[in-house]
Amino acid sequence: MRNAGAVWIGLAVAALTSCSETGGTKNASQGETKGEPVRRVFLEQVGDVAVAQLYADGFESLPLDQKLLAYHLTQAAIAGDAITYDQHSRFALDIRDIIEGILSYPDGLDRGTYDRVRRYAILFWAHHGNHNTRTMAKFLPEFSYEEVLSAMQQAMVNGSTFGVATPEAARKKLDRVRPALFDPKFEPLVTNKTPGEGGDILTASANNFYEGVTTADLQGFTEKNPLNSRLVKGDSGLTEEVYRAGGDGAAPGLYADELSAVIGHLEAAIPFAGPKQAEALRQLVRYFRTGDPAAWRDYNIAWVGDNPAVDAINGFVEVYHDPRGQKGSYESAVFAVDRATTELMRKLAGEAQYFEDRMPWKDEYKNKKPAPPIANAVTILCESGDAGPISWAGINLPNEQEIRQNHGSKSILLWNVMGAADTVNASRLRDEFIASDAERNADALYGSTASNLKVALHEVIGHGSGKVSEKLEGDPSKALREYYSTMEEARADLCALWMLPDPKLHELGLVGDPKVVEVAYAAYVRSAITQLRQVPAGSVLEEDHMRGTNMIVNWLREKSNCIAASNVNGRTFYRVTSVEKMRQGVGQILSELMRCKAEGDYAALKALVDGYGTKLDPKLRDEVVSRAQQAKIPATIAYVMPDLKLVTDKSGKPTDVTVSYPQSMEKQKLAWSRRAARP
Ligand SMILES: [Zn+2]
Repeated sequence: MRNAGAVWIGLAVAALTSCSETGGTKNASQGETKGEPVRRVFLEQVGDVAVAQLYADGFESLPLDQKLLAYHLTQAAIAGDAITYDQHSRFALDIRDIIEGILSYPDGLDRGTYDRVRRYAILFWAHHGNHNTRTMAKFLPEFSYEEVLSAMQQAMVNGSTFGVATPEAARKKLDRVRPALFDPKFEPLVTNKTPGEGGDILTASANNFYEGVTTADLQGFTEKNPLNSRLVKGDSGLTEEVYRAGGDGAAPGLYADELSAVIGHLEAAIPFAGPKQAEALRQLVRYFRTGDPAAWRDYNIAWVGDNPAVDAINGFVEVYHDPRGQKGSYESAVFAVDRATTELMRKLAGEAQYFEDRMPWKDEYKNKKPAPPIANAVTILCESGDAGPISWAGINLPNEQEIRQNHGSKSILLWNVMGAADTVNASRLRDEFIASDAERNADALYGSTASNLKVALHEVIGHGSGKVSEKLEGDPSKALREYYSTMEEARADLCALWMLPDPKLHELGLVGDPKVVEVAYAAYVRSAITQLRQVPAGSVLEEDHMRGTNMIVNWLREKSNCIAASNVNGRTFYRVTSVEKMRQGVGQILSELMRCKAEGDYAALKALVDGYGTKLDPKLRDEVVSRAQQAKIPATIAYVMPDLKLVTDKSGKPTDVTVSYPQSMEKQKLAWSRRAARP
């Protein structure tokens, strides 16, 4: 589960610690100093996506074995990246071949065509396919069919093959993806949880988790690999195509080539890992070979039981792209723990029982022994698949409730990502969406502390909290289905909001001034407006974090009389009128969401989410989108990852790993495709 950083950290300033190396001190407009490379964070903006460079400060000073471990884990991450494209759309890898085949051989191309293909490619790489990962809606290229066909012909003259043998086959490839690329009515949503009267969530979604399957087909069918398989309906009924490389007694399955490559890099990483981490990686290898959910469970238990300096997430993890909330998208994140800033997360984790005891919900849903989650502030070294290049601010895993309840979970705060997002966004958002000077000044002073604390509380205290009823059979996600993720993200947000005014945070030295709470509450309420800039069309929110925020703020507006809306010259503002009342309201809706989770109350949760979370006001949205455009505030940020390179001596023995910064999405993604050449 993740914290919607793109929404939240927009209002933060990277000033929580004295560390100024978080990517926030220099900007693109500063000139180049002789001999010293310019540290550019913001690189360019394409449509509503800003492209920014992520920096991995401190990597150079890691010991060699940790650098080598990081290097191999990064290679594993890149090797699996193609899987996510294919999961999002059965056309995505062919589209990628086409745009990358053109951009790799651009000689003689018309400049305008090249720019149009490149702009589409930036969005395509950012979202891992031709649908927006936040709105789930398809976006279209600015180039035409004829234009891209002639660009392909030119690129073939230059030596491009588009992964096929003949020009005729290349044209066929383009024809196959033609509706996906150009027809706005063809598969308009990658994930559609609200298809309307008579619609079906599975057939209305463009993703590749299901082929020919309707929700009704699933009645009475039990999946053996719910998280890591694709369901296909054929003449003989439903079959599960399991994602696995094969080996350890299992036959190769879907994505066998990519997973074999991932396994190769994981095995190369194992010698540089400590004993516990090596054991976890071996379980992960077994899981990728066999696809066995038991191996995934063993891996996760080993993973939460260890806290190494360089760590990774790798697997089929988040279920946001499946309207049923069951199928995991491939992702990997590789990171190094930032020991100094980790202190914040540690302090919170150490008080897990204190916070649990003070949650507003009924005692029977309180966890009497919360396993304190491991909480780290980290420097992201690489994010692939569903984890990047659009990143989150915080991640808490694993998602399996049983493991969380009995073995704990790990939380990370993506420190360098938060810093970079802040550099790109903070002051522009503040200027546009806060009405009064006093509030703007308070936000400038405390916004960063408030935001970082909120993210930390969401991940460390929020997701780890609560206990489900003994009467509930199985994981609550089974009972709450397509509403589960929205509930869980809203619940974690509410836990954070509920705990922010608690004196414990002051005692721990995390909240120095009560203004922090005011600023945090104001920012949360405001985010219900500012997040609308990420949904340029339609009248429905699809993304779970956004739904959660929308539900909470709309509910508070209606029920707790703590938010005032105003309109000044066509600009809408939300303002918190009473922090006290807002906290009471937060406690009420939080108790109800916890009850829904604990009891698996689908009907009550559906009423809440449909009533307050799903719908948006298109008029307000249009206003926000146009304000954001005028103020040049991107809807999302896509990050160019640091590039790790292996240095070897004459005998081929590794002597170092260097880090460099490509400062170009295009350069990086074309290099990734060459490195992890797809079969
Ligand atoms: Zn979350």
